[in-house]
Amino acid sequence: MSEVLVLVEHVDGEIKKVTFELLTAARALGEPSAVVVGTSGTAAKLKESLAQYGAEKVYVAESDDATGYLVTPKVDVLAALVGAKSPVAVLVAATADGKEVAGRLAARTGSGLLVDAVGLEGEGGVTAVQSIFGGAFTVKSQATTGTPVVSVRPGGVEAAEASGAAAEEVVEVPATDAAKATRITGVEPIVGGDRPELTEASIVVSGGRGVGAAEKFDVVEKLADSLGAAVGASRAAVDSGYYPAQFQVGQTGKTVSPQLYVALGISGAIQHRAGMQTSKTIVAVNKDAEAPIFEIADFGVVGDLFAVAPQLTDEVAKRK
Ligand code: FAD
Repeated sequence: MSEVLVLVEHVDGEIKKVTFELLTAARALGEPSAVVVGTSGTAAKLKESLAQYGAEKVYVAESDDATGYLVTPKVDVLAALVGAKSPVAVLVAATADGKEVAGRLAARTGSGLLVDAVGLEGEGGVTAVQSIFGGAFTVKSQATTGTPVVSVRPGGVEAAEASGAAAEEVVEVPATDAAKATRITGVEPIVGGDRPELTEASIVVSGGRGVGAAEKFDVVEKLADSLGAAVGASRAAVDSGYYPAQFQVGQTGKTVSPQLYVALGISGAIQHRAGMQTSKTIVAVNKDAEAPIFEIADFGVVGDLFAVAPQLTDEVAKRK
């Protein structure tokens, strides 16, 4: 059976959930091989979980400065593996780093790039399923040249366990000059508290212009915290200075696909929908019954978010 390379996303010795989704998606195409690029000892910590999600092989690309040079070492390692192993496809997460890796890798290997897949099919070649124009259409596409490089939207595929052998194979991290042209000198997390990362969260609570002011955004945060959710914002909320830009959901913000998306005071413009329409369950609170968000909401409340959200928060707290 042909092998499918999956780039492992990990942080502080922990695998990001999206990697399990990629391994699950890879199984529709062939045998998943996980590629771990990190400092020495990283793969040993991750191996067991990778095996649990069906990784038949784990390529261990470790070097003490592998994480010090942005994404270039990952591209170097994947490009070398594409040349040596001729996989059927390379899957990376459609995260900020993953998108950059995917673009660079496709350019480097002269391959077709399939972006933002929400599903993969293996019959008759590698087919990416994509949700476009704010979720209005589902399209299927295939690369016509090279080894398809596919970026998969976090939350697009549901992770399912399957045991794999996780046989280790050590590969070199090429120490190219290009990789060393940029060096990371420090990393400071911007997200405060214990909230999950927006694109990884299984619940997202977002606020829009309807929140009305930065100091009122705590109504959104309180509901999010009661649910263990990440906080998101519409562009109008970001542009009005209510919430920082890195939390923007939508066409020009982050794309999320959580189990539950709660939209508070968001009208549901197509550019916002583009970033959240593939959420499994959508709940909207808006005082305008005609707001377009209700067209895609599974549950809607026509009402003032400042009356509804605190009641929801209390109710969730009571059930804990
Ligand atoms: P509004 O459209 O102003 O809606 C506010 C809503 O809140 C209204 O429906 C109102 O009824 C409701 N409301 C008001 N007060 C209350 C209350 N007390 N209780 C309950 N409901 C209340 N937008 C994004 O979000 N993400 C993007 O990435 C993005 N990218 C864009 C890219 C381009 C090229 C362009 C042109 C636009 C983009 N936009 C994006 C902007 C988008 O078109 C909308 O303007 C934006 O999504 C509107 O945000 P909103 O729903 O918060 O505000």
